[in-house]
Amino acid sequence: MRITCVGGGPAGLYFAVLAKLAGPAHEVTVLERNPRGVTYGWGVVFWDDLLDDLFSYDPVSARQISDAACQWDEYEVRATGKSVTHLAGYGFSLGRHKLLSILEARAVSLGVDVRWSCDISDIPSSDLIVAADGAGSTLRALDSKHFGTSVVMGGNKYIWLGTPHVFRTFTFGFERTPAGWIWFHAYPFDDATSTFIVECTPATWSGLGLDRLDAAAGCARLESIFAAHLDGQRLVDHRAESGGTGWMNFRRVTNERWDNGNVVLMGDAAHTTHFAIGSGTKLAMQDAMALADALAAGGALAPALEKYEHRRRAALAPLQRAALASSEWFERMPDYAGLPSTRFSYALSDRRGEYPLWRYLLHRGTQHAVPRALLRWALSARRWTRARRRPGVAPTAPAARAAPLPTGG
Ligand SMILES: Cc1cc2nc3c(=O)[nH]c(=O)nc-3n(C[C@H](O)[C@H](O)[C@H](O)COP(=O)(O)OP(=O)(O)OC[C@H]3O[C@@H](n4cnc5c(N)ncnc54)[C@H](O)[C@@H]3O)c2cc1C
Repeated sequence: MRITCVGGGPAGLYFAVLAKLAGPAHEVTVLERNPRGVTYGWGVVFWDDLLDDLFSYDPVSARQISDAACQWDEYEVRATGKSVTHLAGYGFSLGRHKLLSILEARAVSLGVDVRWSCDISDIPSSDLIVAADGAGSTLRALDSKHFGTSVVMGGNKYIWLGTPHVFRTFTFGFERTPAGWIWFHAYPFDDATSTFIVECTPATWSGLGLDRLDAAAGCARLESIFAAHLDGQRLVDHRAESGGTGWMNFRRVTNERWDNGNVVLMGDAAHTTHFAIGSGTKLAMQDAMALADALAAGGALAPALEKYEHRRRAALAPLQRAALASSEWFERMPDYAGLPSTRFSYALSDRRGEYPLWRYLLHRGTQHAVPRALLRWALSARRWTRARRRPGVAPTAPAARAAPLPTGG
């Protein structure tokens, strides 16, 4: 089979890997618009469920992803005028650049032809074309009527920045300014860098003059607003070099159909999921797994594509509901700002509105150092036990894994 993936993001590269593993004789090409090594964004978060899946589909790349990932073992919530509070939970984060370099190397080692600085005009003759070219998919746009594409813009403004300040753990920070509340979602993703996503309402954005500042001046403004959290470090906007600025509104993309002849949508080209629940990369890679399974079953292409779409729509639905509830909470964030510290951070953690009462009781307990340390230890033991079940894994003992991340924050 001749397969072309348009887009060398997580979806396109991972599907290329899985297609080659399923059929080494397949001719698989990835066309990426950017030059080699160039991508957008900073670190992304993920959880054990993705690692479980990655290890069962391709232990080689899974091992590299797992080894390169940074672990954090609670959430910290800071807000002007409130004491610092904590939310239970743990997760992993990895630079997008690193993730893509692991997937690219794995794809190339399996014989995938990865081509950079190419786009849809370079598509070779193919039996299957995977449109993995992201939320603004050009391939999808060629036939958006057929796909029934809908793009709904989120209300808030956001910008995806990086910083050399290494946060201790996943941190939400809310600052009250004369123009209203503005906040960040930050987490370390290697030993020298953290992701720093800033979000606010459009009124606050223009009230702070961020609509009129270029990338450098905008970063300087944010550095002064968030100075208490950055330990004197810079904020970096990738777009500064191109003269633009990275402020955006989240685009919620849905499609009524995911395939058109031999073209099939995957990852953000098919569906986007708000970054407030940190799942878009996971969903893109799980799409790749589902399509690889559907094709491996053999038979005609059309039913395989239908099977793929059916499986993924069912899996996506609850997460997309959660993502919508979560993004709407952030759009209403100023309404919660008057809550006392512990209730405010609980409202943040229960922004999907799904928690039973015991979670609130646990949350209150988690504000004290000893129960928090016990809970962290229990979660770390669970993470270690889960990791041990993965093929070929010899995880580090729980105590070592629970060691604090680099200091800062
Ligand atoms: C602020 C922010 C934070 C996020 N944080 C997280 C997180 O913590 N965890 C998480 O799981 N997800 C996160 N996401 C979501 C995640 O980035 C996406 O869901 C994920 O990258 C989707 O993967 P993809 O391969 O479908 O698309 P992309 O990663 O967008 O890749 C598409 C690729 O196609 C290329 N391309 C585009 N057009 C063409 C063309 N015409 N020809 C050839 N190539 C083309 C692009 O250059 C790109 O390399 C975040 C998103 C945002 C905006």
